[in-house]
Parts: sequence; structure tokens; C-alpha cells
Amino acid sequence: MRLGWNPHQERRREHFRSFAATAIAPGSAARDREGTFDGQIWKELAADNFWTGHIPRCYGGEGGDMWDFLAGFEGLALGADDCGFVLSAVAHAGLIQVLLDHGTPEQRGDLLPGLVSGEIGATAATEPAGGSHVAAIATSAVAAGDGYLLSGHKAHITNAPVADTILIVGRVPELGKRDITLFIVDAADHGVTTGQPEDLLGQRTSPTGSISLDHVTVPADRVIGAVGDGLTTLYSFLAFDRLMYGIVAATQLEAMIAHAMHRVQTRWTFGVPIGEHQLIQDKLVDMKVTMESSRWLAYSTAAALIDHDPDFSARASCTKLTASEGLVRAATELIQIFGHTGYDRAGVIERYLRDAVAVRIAGGTTEMQKKNVFKSLRDSTPLAVPARPAVPAANPA
Ligand SMILES: Cc1cc2nc3c(=O)[nH]c(=O)nc-3n(C[C@H](O)[C@H](O)[C@H](O)COP(=O)(O)OP(=O)(O)OC[C@H]3O[C@@H](n4cnc5c(N)ncnc54)[C@H](O)[C@@H]3O)c2cc1C
Repeated sequence: MRLGWNPHQERRREHFRSFAATAIAPGSAARDREGTFDGQIWKELAADNFWTGHIPRCYGGEGGDMWDFLAGFEGLALGADDCGFVLSAVAHAGLIQVLLDHGTPEQRGDLLPGLVSGEIGATAATEPAGGSHVAAIATSAVAAGDGYLLSGHKAHITNAPVADTILIVGRVPELGKRDITLFIVDAADHGVTTGQPEDLLGQRTSPTGSISLDHVTVPADRVIGAVGDGLTTLYSFLAFDRLMYGIVAATQLEAMIAHAMHRVQTRWTFGVPIGEHQLIQDKLVDMKVTMESSRWLAYSTAAALIDHDPDFSARASCTKLTASEGLVRAATELIQIFGHTGYDRAGVIERYLRDAVAVRIAGGTTEMQKKNVFKSLRDSTPLAVPARPAVPAANPA
């Protein structure tokens, strides 16, 4: 198992940290207030070869591996001071990863060149009736000619309002029980309508919206993986998505700790800096522990995915759970450390909490991560518990 960056990856990480600090961070507070996504910066990021590091050379990439991508991504997340923009990058990266892991050579050849050079991708599972129970989705396809006609509604999809290419989680009911299938559609396809950006509490620089599919023609060669086998593909996609949330949380925490350390050394109460009070120190310790656990669990999940370790899905859920719950806790305590100043929308502190809350929901809620972790324990633990004893008869007295 290899964890951490080699010298090339260190350079890549620093390059994109610097890019993000220069190009993304300066306007991020204003975009948060306005609720806007900056498509121009997205194009500049692509032009700087952000997406090509782990793409095989035959598709126009640099032939590296997942670590090469993650190094650049961690740099981006560190420098951007813009969790929403980074979340948009997570969604786009997920689509690329699905193509790398499960696409055919033709699908990769058709789609990757555009996706690494400025187009925007989205992955759509959630529907208006719910997101947690993915296997219950209603979006469905009927066979027609050489492919399918796909109809349904998706909601709360990152990048939907600006997407070019969208992965749709649907089903092919005629297959019977095992029918979940992944389809690729182009946002410009006849019958595809994307909605306006939703007005969210946080992640306001990431455009999130609906997708409506009305008898969209999807050729058979736009199905990703085997027809009916979509859930298997989805598990590895979700694990990749969740490890990225670990990196997002770690980088957010790194910035939050810097704010907190400055505050606790410069704000005085009772004749000493507040950092001298052990109740305040405790908050910093929790932030540091959460940052380290989120980062190293994320790396460990990446290693599990690369090594095809069967534990990848549970480890990804441990990462997401630790990262998202710890991030919300830390963002709440950061406001506490800043007192009223932290609660003031004119400052830069309250946004961390608004952005953090979404991380407990997007990519599978906290409750779903707990279910997944327990399921893996139950599946991997031989039944050693004796049969439940018979219930004694009720005492007639
Ligand atoms: C910023 C943001 C970006 C998003 N981007 C995307 C995207 O790109 N693509 C996409 O497909 N979706 C996306 N989503 C949607 C997200 O995946 C869903 O919101 C999430 O899966 C939860 O679905 P829901 O909101 O419908 O809640 P529901 O599924 O209705 O659940 C409501 C509550 O009940 C809990 N619950 C449900 N079932 C159980 C159970 N069995 N046991 C215990 N608790 C349970 C849930 O954990 C939740 O707390 C995004 C969401 C946000 C906030």
C-alpha cells in the first residue's frame, strides 16, 4: 500500500494550489454572495491540464494514475478557498473516473477529450422522491431500435445547470429484478432539459439543479458497464466520490485551523489569549484530529480502490462519515471561537458552516454511510451469536 505523494505529485499539488490561490480564491466570497459559478475559471483550469494527469496517453492525457489526479485535486482544494467550485470538480471527476474504470475504449475516446478540456460533467442519481434509496429510482428506459428511450426526473444534481455530459442512473424494467443501468446523455440531446441553479444555504458557487428526460434517445453504446449491472458500477463510483469528500474536508479544516490559531493567539479574555483556556484548546485538537483522519482515510480508500480491496466501499463510507461529521462539528466550533464575529455574515467564518452542512448530505447522507459500514461488518462477520433464546412464557400472576 502506497500513501502520500512522490516528487512529481508534490509539484502538481503545489502547482494547482498556486493556480487556485491566484485564480479562484480572490473572487470566491463575492460568488458565494451572488450564488454564481465561474465557467471561465473552469476553462482556465482545464487549459492548465488539471484533468489530464491520470488520463491514458491514447486519449490525450499524461498517462499517470489516480494519485497524480488526487495530488492536483488536493492542491486545488487547498488554494481555492471555494468549497462549491471544488464540489463541482468532485462531480466532474466522478464522471471521468466512471469512464476510466467502466467505459469502453470507444466511450473513452469519444468523451474524455472533451471532458478534460473544459466541458462540464454531472452524475445524476437523486430524484425528487428521494436520494438515499438509489435502487428505488423511477427514471426508466424502454428498448427502442438500437438503444433506449429514457424518461424521468433528476433533482439536486451538481453541475446540472451548466453540464455538457451527464451520467444518468436509470433502470430498464423489462430486465426484471436486476435492472439498474447507467446511461450517458448529452445535455443538448433532444428531450433533455436542465433547470436553473437552486438557491442553497451553502456550496453556492456550485450550480445545483434538476434534469428532466422526456423520451431521450440513448444509443446502446451510451450505456456504461453492462445493462442491468449499474449498481456494481455505482459502488466504485460512490467510493471514489466519498474519498474525495475526505480530501475536501481535510483541506477545509486546514484553512479553518489557520483562522482558529490566529484568533486564539490574538483574542484576549481574563488577562490571557483565549488559546490559554483548555476548553478552547480542546476545539483545536478535535479539528486537527479530524483533519488528519479525513486525509489519511481518503488516501487509504484510494489505495483500496486501486488495489481492488473488497473493503473499499466500507472504507469510503468511514472516510465520508468521519470527514463530513467532523467538518460540521469543526465549523460550528470555529464560529464559537470567533464569538459574534464568527456569526456575522460580513466575515469569512460563517461560510465554512454553510458549506459543511451540505457535505453531510451530498454523496450519500451520514445515515447511509452508517448503514453501509454496518452492512460490511455484518457481511464479513461469521454468525457467532447463539440463536435467540426463547421468550419465557408470561407470568400469569
Ligand atoms: C450540495 C448538494 C449536491 C448534490 N449533488 C448531487 C449530485 O451531483 N448527484 C446526485 O445524484 N445527487 C446529488 N445531491 C443529492 C443528494 O445525493 C441527496 O440529497 C441525498 O442522497 C439524500 O437524498 P434526499 O435529500 O432525497 O433525502 P432522503 O433520501 O429523502 O432522506 C431524508 C433523510 O432521511 C434519512 N434516511 C433515509 N433513509 C434512511 C434509513 N433507511 N435509515 C436512516 N435514515 C434514513 C436520510 O439520511 C436523510 O437524513 C446533492 C445534494 C446536495 C446537498
